[in-house]
Amino acid sequence: MARSYPRAQRGSSGPPPAAGTWLCPNPGDRERLLELHRFSRPARLATLAVVGAGTVLLAVDWGWGVFGVFAGVTVVRLLLEGRMLRSPRPEIWFFAATLLTMAGIGLGTAMTGGPHSAVLPWLLVPAVGAAAVLANRGVLVVFAWGAGMALLGSLTWRDAAPPNVQILLSTLVLMVVVAFDVGTLMRAEARSRRGSIIDPLTGLLNRSTLDQRFLELREQALVAGRPVAIVVFDLDHFKTINDEHGHDTGDRVLRDVARTVRVSLRSFELAYRIGGEEFLVLLPGLDEAGAARRAEQVREALLATRPAGLRVTLSAGVAAGLHDGELDFQSLYEEADQRLYVAKQRGRNRVVPEPVDPGPVLRRSA
Ligand code: GH3
Ligand code: MG
Ligand code: MG
Repeated sequence: MARSYPRAQRGSSGPPPAAGTWLCPNPGDRERLLELHRFSRPARLATLAVVGAGTVLLAVDWGWGVFGVFAGVTVVRLLLEGRMLRSPRPEIWFFAATLLTMAGIGLGTAMTGGPHSAVLPWLLVPAVGAAAVLANRGVLVVFAWGAGMALLGSLTWRDAAPPNVQILLSTLVLMVVVAFDVGTLMRAEARSRRGSIIDPLTGLLNRSTLDQRFLELREQALVAGRPVAIVVFDLDHFKTINDEHGHDTGDRVLRDVARTVRVSLRSFELAYRIGGEEFLVLLPGLDEAGAARRAEQVREALLATRPAGLRVTLSAGVAAGLHDGELDFQSLYEEADQRLYVAKQRGRNRVVPEPVDPGPVLRRSA
């Protein structure tokens, strides 16, 4: 049998999406927020240092009150950011930190000249940060809050002289324009990044992130002393489906297969589309027997769901390893791929090695 597993295409699935919020509706938005947060840590610390130094230098004119506000806001911000990294909804903590910062700037404005204050334009800093990561509704609320803080800070200034609205207005205009530009740039970046790691047909991950993810799992496996398994599977006689029902139906089959695979896996088990009708699943913590059972569940689910209304079967090869210094992706992949070949030779629609029934005790505890 000639094996023809196209390798060039991209494919794979992330964990099933956790519920989003109005601030970050998609799990991808949340992931981007966290990634950007980690990535920009040195820049944020530098910003804090510069703003802190600025308030110290300007204390000659403003007094130490503004520095006190800055220090208070910074401490609470750092606490909120710590919570953010541990929270299942980090965007809420980020949002709270943004509103708090703007409130601090409003207070600083009220202490240093109200509508004449040079503190006002600093509102741009949190506004831009929010525009980079939050959904439109979140950005609108942040803008409204920022404008409210600017107005409040201006109105509570005790000076009886007629207010100068130039700084106030130009700050608000700048805040909207700059944040709008940043938001547009960030969305463009997110779109192209998404396109480079997600297979557009199935929505599964493509193989571009596979090596990196395997290395991470390998390290976790070392710490936890647990195995890592992979399943490589390929749809049977897929060419015949294309020939008999057309390429569009073939595409529908691939999409439906991807959905079935995703719902058959646990949230931390990742599925990749690594070729035309070839997929790979990473199973952290499972040994060979456990992975064979999981592959069998996927095989049975596929039979039950009938992608695009057709009987579609798969053949799968499974391999697992413990991290003892030898575990590497390429050898695991080659072993699983050889077993997939054996599954095809044995008549397709099967998993190799054959899954063994876990028995009544294990089944009860599963
Ligand atoms: P086997 O059981 O040995 O795996 O047979 P097969 O027909 O599944 O394997 P073969 O490699 O001969 O054919 C795979 C086919 O998958 C050929 C190719 O045109 C088709 N294919 C690859 N990518 C796509 C795609 O994105 N959409 C559709 N509809 N077909 C695709
Ligand atoms: Mg193939
Ligand atoms: Mg095939």
